[in-house]
Amino acid sequence: MLKVSGLSTSYGGIHALVDVSLKVANNALVALIGSNGAGKTTMLNTICGVVRAAHGTVLFDGEDITYLNDYEIARRGLLQVPEGRRILGSLSVEENLLLGGLAAAGRQVQERQGLDEVYALFPVLKERRRAPGGVLSGGQQQMLAIGRAMMGRPKLLLLDEASLGLSPLMATTVFDAVVHLNSTGIAILIVEQNAKRALEITHTAYILEQGRLVREGVSAELASDPSVIDHYLGRTAQPAGRH
Ligand code: ATP
Repeated sequence: MLKVSGLSTSYGGIHALVDVSLKVANNALVALIGSNGAGKTTMLNTICGVVRAAHGTVLFDGEDITYLNDYEIARRGLLQVPEGRRILGSLSVEENLLLGGLAAAGRQVQERQGLDEVYALFPVLKERRRAPGGVLSGGQQQMLAIGRAMMGRPKLLLLDEASLGLSPLMATTVFDAVVHLNSTGIAILIVEQNAKRALEITHTAYILEQGRLVREGVSAELASDPSVIDHYLGRTAQPAGRH
């Protein structure tokens, strides 16, 4: 479904990604982990056209999308749930969801059915459908951000730091939703500061360090590898946080 080959991205003189390759198969649930500043968000932003690649290619369903715009990529069914959620605070929950449906324009979509699916997965959003997005709790806003992406009928979802700042209970709700969405046939690539949980719920994983891919493999095997435990899962792992 997604094949990234030799991708490099720079911000001026900063080489944020250097020659990175990864794959997400149909129906796969894949994690991308690494310390702060490793290049994870840059990777997602480059795949979905928010940031331009300097070198390399991104193939989606066999099509070269490397230099398409973000909205052209979204319309093909590759959607990102960005870090920070970017909810439109003055619009209602339901209006935020309906805006997400714009990404599906040109493909067959039933608005009502989309809303029903989001409300079935996140009943609290139905209860609060008339509330302004800005008054929701952090966890509810994360649900709204995921629901908004669902409205765009994604084939592949890129999820950036979905559990950041959430209570353990709320993070579990979000991870359960991710697993459920994947079980409905949506391929998902997640970037997570909570590497332990990410490795628990995914099939395969990639580890980035300073813009370079340093490990890849089956998530369960990486999770039991002493060097991975030391660097990313153990007591010496970097705490979650922003720059
Ligand atoms: P975090 O988990 O802390 O968000 P990350 O792994 O997602 O980190 P990126 O945000 O992709 O990492 O950042 C990779 C590198 O690129 C870092 O050195 C960062 O400072 C730099 N960087 C990211 N965005 C920009 C930007 N807009 N302009 C300049 N440098 C940037």
